[in-house]
Amino acid sequence: MKLFSSVKDIRVFLNEQKSLGKSIGFVPTMGALHEGHLSLMRKAKTENDLLVVSIFVNPIQFNNKNDLQKYPRNLEDDSQMLEAVGCDILFAPDEKEMYPEPINKTYDFGPLAEVMEGKFRPGHFNGVAIVVKRLFDIIEPARAYFGEKDFQQLTIIKKLVEIEKMDVEIVPCPIVREEDGLAMSSRNRLLTPDQRKVAPFIYKTLQEAKLRRNHICANPLRQMIINVFEGNENFRLEYFDIVDDKNLQSINGWNNKVGTIACVAAWLGDVRLIDNIRII
Ligand code: AMP
Repeated sequence: MKLFSSVKDIRVFLNEQKSLGKSIGFVPTMGALHEGHLSLMRKAKTENDLLVVSIFVNPIQFNNKNDLQKYPRNLEDDSQMLEAVGCDILFAPDEKEMYPEPINKTYDFGPLAEVMEGKFRPGHFNGVAIVVKRLFDIIEPARAYFGEKDFQQLTIIKKLVEIEKMDVEIVPCPIVREEDGLAMSSRNRLLTPDQRKVAPFIYKTLQEAKLRRNHICANPLRQMIINVFEGNENFRLEYFDIVDDKNLQSINGWNNKVGTIACVAAWLGDVRLIDNIRII
């Protein structure tokens, strides 16, 4: 695996590779890698000639300083996992390399960015969009892989590609879970053993929502699940919503022609966890 931290150097190398006709599959990450990340990489490996992975903890997408400070970082372990999965190129720039100029771009994603994560993490998606645009400009991949774990992010990235008219295929990848159902996340390693034990409650409750969909209308089901989360003293619910998978707005009734997902964000101690499940 080749390691680059300079934008100029990786561009030179990738331009050479592209002139040889090699296609590039790209997986952007913030490191602290786990099986969820690796599943994206394995898929990218099979669909492209070269796999490029980036590791960059993007400060401008954190609306909470404490969250940024305690975000897990471990480049050595990550490198070993990347070697094992057959990553060809790791791009791990520092902040100066990523943002040599002051950043003042503001994207308008409309209602997509006004709900759920967008509502509770002001500025988050603008920061995500800026870093992804910059990474796409540097790497110029044929395909880029994103997890459905961050469903709203995936939707925003598709919109970003449309707005910026970028020539890259966005490939969605399914959520990878621990055996007990907890969605894999770099933040899981911040949980205490006791918190880790109760964390699967999130997915169990999402599954319950899915099971009840044939028996209850969307609005009472939404309220019922909110009550279930609020009734568990281990968690502090930020939002639970049942939304249209295209425009991410709340739905008021079931329609088999409208893709529907249930999304949740909840705090377990001072760790914020998100998850979602497809209902229709
Ligand atoms: P992150 O390092 O958290 O920014 O995540 C990098 C990419 O991995 C994003 O596209 C995430 O959606 C994806 N990802 C993170 N966790 C999972 C998971 N449990 N299953 C599938 N994809 C994931």
